[in-house]
Amino acid sequence: MCAECEQLWKNYVDASLKRVRAYGNLKLANLRSDSETMEMLAEAAALATQKLEEVKRKIEEHESTRHAFRGTQSALL
Ligand SMILES: [Zn+2]
Repeated sequence: MCAECEQLWKNYVDASLKRVRAYGNLKLANLRSDSETMEMLAEAAALATQKLEEVKRKIEEHESTRHAFRGTQSALL
């Protein structure tokens, strides 16, 4: 792991937590049948998923260009 890897994995953990939180909030709004908030939160959750995918792609890209190491890909699934 290089410094860039470390930063990328921090981003991954951060994005992952944000997504969990976004979906948690969405679930709560769903339970309260708060459709207006739900719409907003669904958008935030979709964005959080997109961000997580982006970080995953960056990690894969970084590993294949800098380390040519594919062993961690399964850990991303
Ligand atoms: Zn690296």
